[in-house]
Amino acid sequence: SGNEEQGQDYLFKIVLIGDSAVGKSNLLARFARNQFFPNSKSTIGVEFQTKTMDIDGKEVKAQIWDTAGQERFKAVTSAYYRGAVGALLVYDVSRHQTFDSVGRWLQELHMHSDMNVVTILVGNKTDLKDAREVSTAEGKTLAEAQGLFFMETSALDSSNVAAAFQTVVEEIYHAVS
Ligand code: GDP
Ligand code: MG
Repeated sequence: SGNEEQGQDYLFKIVLIGDSAVGKSNLLARFARNQFFPNSKSTIGVEFQTKTMDIDGKEVKAQIWDTAGQERFKAVTSAYYRGAVGALLVYDVSRHQTFDSVGRWLQELHMHSDMNVVTILVGNKTDLKDAREVSTAEGKTLAEAQGLFFMETSALDSSNVAAAFQTVVEEIYHAVS
């Protein structure tokens, strides 16, 4: 494509999905700007952030889309999913009902996007140790059954946040390069 020397050949659209308040916006804020908002209020309207990453010495741009609160109305638009090659499907390890929604989110993802979309199941808020309702084994088992990558994260204390995004981007890169 002629851009190879400048290393600008890769732009991957990645979507964040999952129930309201599981920490999608804070995972993105932590990853893209190293910020965390203890009492974040969702805003209306779709938005994304672009983060440049180094994969195997190549410059890869991850364009990460946040629902910005649409999911509260059970209507994430098809435009949100259009062209996505990766997805982080997030639940909250301290609220089992958000884990029970994972199947529904997977159906929606597959209805609106390519079956090959690289998907990682993310159990967020591992810092809430005493409030945990979903075990690591439960998350891992579901991920294996559905053929998803799996990681547990905390947007609050940063653990595994970069690793979760990195996994998705690396897997997409290896699938297309
Ligand atoms: P979203 O609706 O999925 O985008 O969720 P938000 O990112 O807006 O987060 C919802 C609430 O959970 C906010 O009050 C955040 O501060 C909080 N939150 C997000 N991630 C974490 C986390 O890893 N640990 C803890 N303890 N709280 C979190
Ligand atoms: Mg949000």
